[in-house]
This record gives sequence, structure tokens and C-alpha cells, in this order.
Amino acid sequence: EPSSSSNFLTDRVEADLAEGKNGGRVVTRFPPEPNGFLHIGHAKSILLNFGLAARFGGQTHLRFDDTNPTTEDTSYVEAIEADVRWLGCEWSRLTYASDFFERMYACAERLVREGHAYVDTQPQEAIREQRGAFDRPGVASPFRERPAEESLDLLRRMRAGELPDGAAVLRARIDMAHPNVLMRDPLLYRIRHAHHHRTGDRWCIYPMYDFAHPLEDAFEGVTHSICTLEFESNRELYDWVLDHLGPWEPRPRQYEFARLALGYTVLSKRKLLQLVNEKRVSGWDDPRMPTLAGLRRRGVTPEALRDFAELIGVAKNNSVVDIGKLEFALRADLERRAPRAMAVLSPLPVEVTTWPAGRIEELTLPWWPGEPERGTRQVPFGRELLIEREDFAEDPPAGWKRLAPGREVRLAGGYVVRCDEVVRGPAGEVKALRVSHDPASFGEGAPRRGLGAVHWVHATRSLPAPVRLYDRLFAVAQPDAEPDFLAALNPDSLTVAAGARVEPALGEAAPGTRWQFLRQGYFFADPVDSRPGAPAFNRTLTLKDTWAA
Ligand code: ATP
Ligand code: MG
Ligand code: MG
Repeated sequence: EPSSSSNFLTDRVEADLAEGKNGGRVVTRFPPEPNGFLHIGHAKSILLNFGLAARFGGQTHLRFDDTNPTTEDTSYVEAIEADVRWLGCEWSRLTYASDFFERMYACAERLVREGHAYVDTQPQEAIREQRGAFDRPGVASPFRERPAEESLDLLRRMRAGELPDGAAVLRARIDMAHPNVLMRDPLLYRIRHAHHHRTGDRWCIYPMYDFAHPLEDAFEGVTHSICTLEFESNRELYDWVLDHLGPWEPRPRQYEFARLALGYTVLSKRKLLQLVNEKRVSGWDDPRMPTLAGLRRRGVTPEALRDFAELIGVAKNNSVVDIGKLEFALRADLERRAPRAMAVLSPLPVEVTTWPAGRIEELTLPWWPGEPERGTRQVPFGRELLIEREDFAEDPPAGWKRLAPGREVRLAGGYVVRCDEVVRGPAGEVKALRVSHDPASFGEGAPRRGLGAVHWVHATRSLPAPVRLYDRLFAVAQPDAEPDFLAALNPDSLTVAAGARVEPALGEAAPGTRWQFLRQGYFFADPVDSRPGAPAFNRTLTLKDTWAA
């Protein structure tokens, strides 16, 4: 279940409880807009909100913030629910902002009646220009003093669909010289003649975020409304809305924390959508995507994401987090759960000349080295083998522990072999090796310490399996800072080891299972592209840190 270490938010909740605020309740919410898939930044927010409530015996709502009909879709709703569940979080209530449209509208009419809002019928550009800037006060709309009765009538006509898009907006009447620009008579409602994925054509006016969000929180009894730092200056408006429409019990409060930013990727739904739409990736669940669907298909575990969230903590200042921290958490988790097997990604044929042709010896090897009680599998050994091309060097550097002309190496779990001959192709390239084995060298006790071991498979008894190797999706650390982020895509982010061969036991690897390929890294049997008896593997990550910043 969710856990969280102490931070400024847990301190805040503790203090509130000590003061007896909110009747001792703690209610948080995670409020995604259903306009895309969740990404790793959302995971941080989810774990924070659910973790905070769980720590204090409270509750968390999953709320679809569906106030923008043109970008939202039911398919995203379903994907988001699946992702939150996958992270291991259980909401106590599932809500939709659109369920509150009628109540929100009633609040809007109340503001108008009480003189705190008016309908502005100026063009949008005029309203924008009159807003001023931080060093320049705003200019009042000529409709600012419109009588409440007249505004109410216009608001009702807006709702009734009598006015086209852009013809009018509802604005709060606050202060056009307010030092916080967001407080200069902000927009509360706009007209959008658009079909909504849940309310259909019932509404043609939609509330703005700054009006809707505090009300959603208050209607649901949220006590601590946590958002990212960019919303710090919206807090004043959040409070204004609630103060003018209460009383509320509990009265929600907004708190801000630093959003997660990662190098070599983008975490904006708009940009992620663009990658999907333009087919730069295979979909929202492409294993290179920072989406939860992509991370899951890459083989990342929810446990590792939780550990990662713990590791980076909750901060009050924005910073870019090193992806190495996720890899660190992931490696520790996969180390515990992934059995060891052998796969050769780029095969080099090896003939064991001292082994009778046609004779196969089934080696019984443990899935977990040194722990045969946890299970074993048969690995066929014979005259025709394959090793990794890069485990052979004609001119080995000093300290080389792999195969080279005249040198010996252990075939992992099996015999020691010596390289007697290099077989060359027409251009002089290395085509195959001929080696001889030492029959006395088999097994753990064999006195051959100091020799390196390489992984291998049988040439014909092994199985072909596509193995997908992933690298960073972007070639630059801050793609968001590029004039065209698409131009910064890493052209080599996906390599398919098309000739890869895996040991026979891996043919039974069920979709969604995790493996360590000896000396190579952690791999995930792809749930989409695997076929019965013919798995496809995704490299989750390598054994060693290749991302070190
Ligand atoms: P985008 O701007 O790309 O559409 P968003 O932040 O608007 O993303 P929402 O669906 O509104 O996406 O986000 C739901 C919640 O997730 C919000 O409370 C938001 O603060 C939080 N969130 C979004 N991105 C991050 C991030 N990178 N780190 C932490 N929390 C995030
Ligand atoms: Mg958004
Ligand atoms: Mg948002």
C-alpha cells in the first residue's frame, strides 16, 4: 500500500490534524484531464496524493477534470483508470468534473447576482489586451458595470445556446489593477459549441480551470488540494472563488510541489500526443515513451516507480531529475524478480570440434545461480553453438576475459573451450570459430578459476526471437528547449536485434514475464507482439549504468 516519507506536505497535514482542522479528515484527489495517457510525472502526483492520504487514514478521489470538451475522450478515461490501478492505488471515489456542471453553473449565477461577476461581450483580443502585465495595470471592460440583471440574462442566453463561440464570457469582478495578473477579472465561463464525451450536447458553456477546480474540490470535500508549482499564483484566485461561494466544510486549501522533470524526454501531453499522431513512436504504449503504458510495456515495475518516487522525494523547487535514479530503483527490483537465462543478440557461430556431431547433452542449469532449489531448466549443449560476436576479439586488449585466438573461456554453466581457429569469409571477416572443449572442465568445482565466462546458445536448438533494444527517445537533454522538439528525436532510439537467438526454455516465456539475459540486462516478454511459443523481448535496461549523467 502507498507509503511516503516526511516532507513539507506531511508536516502540513500533521499540523492540521493537531489543530483539529477539517474534522480530522484528510481527503486528497488526483485530477487528470482525460486528454492523453498518464506519464511518469503524473505517477509522482498519484503516489504523492494517494500516499499522503493513506499515511493519515484518509481518502483519495480519482477525478476526471473533463471541462474541455474538444480534447477529451472516453478512451483516455479507461487508460487512466488502468494506469492508476497498475500503480497500486485505489480511489475511494471516482468523480467527473462534468457531474458538477449544474452546481457550478448555479455558483456562477450566484456570483452575478451578488455583484461578483459580469458578462463581457467584447472580443477576446480586447479582453486579453486590457489585462495589462505585471508592470502595467489593466484596463476595465466597458461592460464591467453592467447591471446584474442584464448579466444574468446574458449568462442564461449563453447557456441556452443563443450566442456563438467567442461572443461572450463570464468574468469575475475583482480588481483590474491587482498585482497578480490572474486576479484581473479572470474568465469563469466561455462558450464552446462542442460535443462533450460525457454530457453530449447538454452544455455549450464550459467553466474555466480556475473556477471549476476549487469548486470540484469543495463539492467533493477535498481537504488538501495538491498541484504543481506553476499554479502558485492561481492559489489567490482559488481562494477568492471559495471565499465568495462558501461556506464550505471542509474548506479545501491548495498546496504546490515541484513537478517532475526528466532529461532526454518530454512530459507534456500535447507533445506526447504529437509523437503518437505523427507515428514517431508506435503508440502511447511504445516502450520508449515516458507514459505509464510505455514504461509498463518496457518492463518497468510499479514497485520500482514507487521506490523512485520515494528516492526523489517531494520538493518545493523545480529541478531536473536524473533518470539514473529510476534505473537504480528498477535494477534493484528486477535483480530480485528476474530469473537468469541465456540469449545471444548478435550471434557468431562456434564449432566445438572435439564434440561428436549430432550429440546433444542437456545441461541442467539453475534459474537462479547458486540456488538450484528455486528451479532449473535444461540447456542443450552440442557441437554447433552461438556466442555473442563481441565476446570474440582477434587482437584482445589487455585484461580481455573473453575469447581470442589461442585463448580459453568458460561457456557459462558448461565447459571451458579454447579457440583453435578463426574461419573467415570472402572479405576476410570473421565468420565462425572452431574451438575444442576440455571434458574435465565441466561444473562449478573445475579448477579453472580466473577464466571469464561467456553466454551461448545451441545453434539449432535455440529459438529465434526479436529482441528490441531501446535508447533515449531524444538526443538532447532538454528537448522542450528546442525550437522544434521533433528534430531532436534520437534516430537510434530503437534497434531490433533481428538475428537474436534465445535458449529453448525461453520459448515458454509468458507475455509480461521478466528475465535477466546473462551479461546483457533485463528483458520483458512483450505483451503485444509475443505469440504462443514465440516471444518477443523488450530490453528494460542494461545491467550497468549507461545513463550516468
Ligand atoms: P499537460 O499540461 O501536459 O496536459 P497536465 O499537468 O495539464 O499536463 P493533468 O491531466 O491536468 O495534466 O494533470 C493531472 C495532475 O497531474 C495535476 O494535478 C498535475 O499537477 C499533475 N502533474 C502533471 N504533470 C506532472 C509532473 N510532470 N510532475 C508532477 N505532477 C504532474
Ligand atoms: Mg493540461
Ligand atoms: Mg492540468
